[in-house]
Amino acid sequence: MTTETLEFQAEARQLLQLMVHSIYSHKEVFLRELISNASDALDKRRLAGLKDESLKAADDLHIAIEVDKEARTLTVRDNGIGMSREDVVGLIGTIARSGTAEMLRRLKENKESAELIGQFGVGFYSVFMVAEKVTLLTRKAGEDEGVRWESDGGGTYTIETVEDAPEGTAVTVHLRPADEEDALHDYTDDQKIREVVKRYSDFISFPIRMGEETLNSMKALWARPRSDVKDEEYREFYRHITHDWADPLEIIPMRAEGTFEYEALLFIPSRAPRDLFQRDARHGVQLYVKRVFIMDDSRELLPDHLRFVKGVVDAADLSLNVSREILQQDRHIQLIRRRLAKKVLSTIKDLMTNDAEKYRTFWREFGAAVKEGLLDGSENHKAILDIASFASTAGDEPTTLADYVSRMKDGQNKIYYVTGESRAQIENSPHIEALKAKDYEVLLLTDPVDDIWVDTVHEYDGKEFQSVTRGESDVSAEEEVSEEDTEAYKAVLGWLNDTLDDVKDVRLTTRLTSSPACLVSDNDGMTPALEKVYKAMGQ
Ligand code: ADP
Ligand code: MG
Repeated sequence: MTTETLEFQAEARQLLQLMVHSIYSHKEVFLRELISNASDALDKRRLAGLKDESLKAADDLHIAIEVDKEARTLTVRDNGIGMSREDVVGLIGTIARSGTAEMLRRLKENKESAELIGQFGVGFYSVFMVAEKVTLLTRKAGEDEGVRWESDGGGTYTIETVEDAPEGTAVTVHLRPADEEDALHDYTDDQKIREVVKRYSDFISFPIRMGEETLNSMKALWARPRSDVKDEEYREFYRHITHDWADPLEIIPMRAEGTFEYEALLFIPSRAPRDLFQRDARHGVQLYVKRVFIMDDSRELLPDHLRFVKGVVDAADLSLNVSREILQQDRHIQLIRRRLAKKVLSTIKDLMTNDAEKYRTFWREFGAAVKEGLLDGSENHKAILDIASFASTAGDEPTTLADYVSRMKDGQNKIYYVTGESRAQIENSPHIEALKAKDYEVLLLTDPVDDIWVDTVHEYDGKEFQSVTRGESDVSAEEEVSEEDTEAYKAVLGWLNDTLDDVKDVRLTTRLTSSPACLVSDNDGMTPALEKVYKAMGQ
């Protein structure tokens, strides 16, 4: 068979350089990465086997760790889905992770490369922190030929087709010669391996074997009582399912017994993903049925406005062959979805009282997405309004609606707001002047979604929302325009009305104190910003 030598993609090359020269102090994470990949491959294999009998693995699905002390090699083997030649070139020769570019940029800015590796996680390439050479032998389920890939982490790798590859994937790490520092971290040492597997990979749901011994407990984390699980275990699990290297903001274990049983383990990330507002943003919840992984990215388990929540739902009463179409119809799934949504919202509410800083982080990162829940006529309007906060003329910190209401002045019976693109743009808007004069507080709404929900949600705590840019202002500061003035300005108003085609009506007002004029919408008309939203949507 001919061996081809190919180049790594430029970004991948930079990353490899970094790994080769890394002084990161937790190099053992390379083993976690290899095991995590093996586990993903086994999940895919199990699923493939359920759908197509011929793709079932010959042996039980497992991960094997093999050590050769003489040769100083460590092999992580799985009988999972495997990779085709194209897969290997595409998946191992390039890096598609969105965080990688960001990491490389940060690395160029400062030299603390070691810690950044821990923060971003680097997947398969982390193996080059300890390897002088890596050999990967793989065969994709259902294919006859396998692939052998090899690299020393320099600019190139070799790839060749092989006839006799076992099913699944084996990654053989040729460890660098032991130096003094390495003496403490000998990855051919059984004890060291046991320790690392236990620390990072205990929850993996397939057996991780070394010889006859199974190293992990395989206990599904979501099936264990919270008091039993260390926070560090939850964090490792979070990393495993999300590939997000920042710790989660909040961990939410759930369990329901009775007519339909499920367990769930949800995580609220500490930062929003880049694609939060893209149409096809991934949803983070994985569906399991009785411990068997069924699907990623299960949109049916949480409403759209909570799409940033990550985690696992393990439902007892579903068929392993369940499809997305079936999920959409399933009554149990709909119930689970409602429960999960309620629980997430109530968790945020608890944060407001118990951990204000966490709450602020949450709302800053995800508030704009959560507010979309106000548009869909769902039962959670009240819960969402309760946890929402908004910029306001009362101060620099965002305020909750409850706090706004508690500050309402005598005689004030509405919640005033103004929408716009930025605080700076609307804060000094002429519309607010009369209210300011009365010391009424005005909410400053700057997310695009704000323009829409204010039309679907009419009140909070019995107080109506009132746009300061719409309709007759009912602020009593507004006095009647005198007849004299009306007469005096008649001609000029007529001329303005004729001239300004896009404006429906021009009239005198006392609502302004220092600005000469302002634009106002009809009560049922659209605000200028909302018009823009609709225009942008092509309506
Ligand atoms: P990630 O796991 O975050 O996708 P990695 O760098 O760890 O990134 O792996 C890159 C890709 O290579 C994986 O997404 C997977 O498609 C493939 N891969 C790695 N290891 C295996 C394996 N043992 N079996 C099958 N595919 C694998
Ligand atoms: Mg990985």
